[in-house]
Amino acid sequence: MNLKDENLYYVGGVVRDEILGLPSLDIDFCYEGNAIEFAKNSGLNIVKENPDFGTVRVLYEGQEIDIASTRTETYPQAGHLPVVDKIGCPLKDDLKRRDFTVNAMAKNTLTGEIVDYFNSKDDLKSKKLRVLHQNSFIDDPSRIIRALKFSARFGFGLDDCTKTLQEECLGNINYDMSYHRIKKEIKETFNLNSDKLLREFIRSGIYKLLGKNQDIPEIKGSAENLINLVKPCICWIVYAGLFDLSNFDLTKEESDIIEWVKKLKRANISSEWNLYRLFSESPIESVIIYGLVREYDLAYHYLKSLRSIKPLVNGNDLINLGIEQGKLFKEIFEFITEEKFKNPKLSKEEELALIKNKYL
Ligand code: ATP
Ligand code: MG
Repeated sequence: MNLKDENLYYVGGVVRDEILGLPSLDIDFCYEGNAIEFAKNSGLNIVKENPDFGTVRVLYEGQEIDIASTRTETYPQAGHLPVVDKIGCPLKDDLKRRDFTVNAMAKNTLTGEIVDYFNSKDDLKSKKLRVLHQNSFIDDPSRIIRALKFSARFGFGLDDCTKTLQEECLGNINYDMSYHRIKKEIKETFNLNSDKLLREFIRSGIYKLLGKNQDIPEIKGSAENLINLVKPCICWIVYAGLFDLSNFDLTKEESDIIEWVKKLKRANISSEWNLYRLFSESPIESVIIYGLVREYDLAYHYLKSLRSIKPLVNGNDLINLGIEQGKLFKEIFEFITEEKFKNPKLSKEEELALIKNKYL
């Protein structure tokens, strides 16, 4: 990226990643002053602007980039979204509102100088996550989940004072909060697909941030192993779905997964055929969650072996046999699926022969 100005900085994670020698997931720019005016005065191609937040999206060398004005924020209600206080504040004040010192550095786009007001480089060297002020977790508890995410991604640990602040916050949660950011961070964290991370989520009580009266699940085996058997899936919900997610604004697909888990828990699985049918109707994520809290070996067996058993005949084959689409179609598929289940080695010809024999 060649965009350069004496007041324009790379900021946050991108600076951290560069020092760590790692690629960045995204690049954040911040302009010391008003970014929208900067974009206009520099003749940049503006795609979108949001004057309330002082942010602007520009098209530069074929790429869309977001530039934020330096800003201060306040939290009139702890745990809710902040309100913008001042747009165009000094860079230092903008860096102060950030989550951890390691994410509070800026790098000047013109001179390449790294601005480090809070000993961030030292913390980065010693792999320490340190909040920038006492109220940080109370203001925004999603930072606790961010800390867990960064500890898993980079092997960072909490500095002692930050650890105490985290414990205090988790010991006295005000549940009147915005769950939007909590969900976003939970998604990013559990998409890392890590058993170790789940253990830490439970051990340190971070799960309490999902809502009141959470039960601690008794986990029967490795989530990673089940997930790795059936990629792709909505990875994060396999972990988060072990808890009560009623505070989350779930999509239809996500809430279906949770409903299916309830259904599987209620079901009476009396035979392998019965298990196969029930699991093959369920979203795969529900099968994994069910396995993690109830019948690990059954879920493993299904995901590893039974799941791939499927008839070779398809709808066209039935139409070619002169069978019309409708109720009978469904019945024939049920029949041939069960036959295939009993004898997975059936060839397509043998499947067709069985169908002809019974239905024609
Ligand atoms: P990643 O590699 O996951 O993108 P990141 O540190 O860049 O890590 P982003 O979510 O992209 O994280 O946020 C960019 C920057 O914005 C952070 O580095 C941090 O300075 C700031 N930030 C993000 N979320 C918060 C938060 N909840 N509270 C305070 N500052 C935050
Ligand atoms: Mg980032």
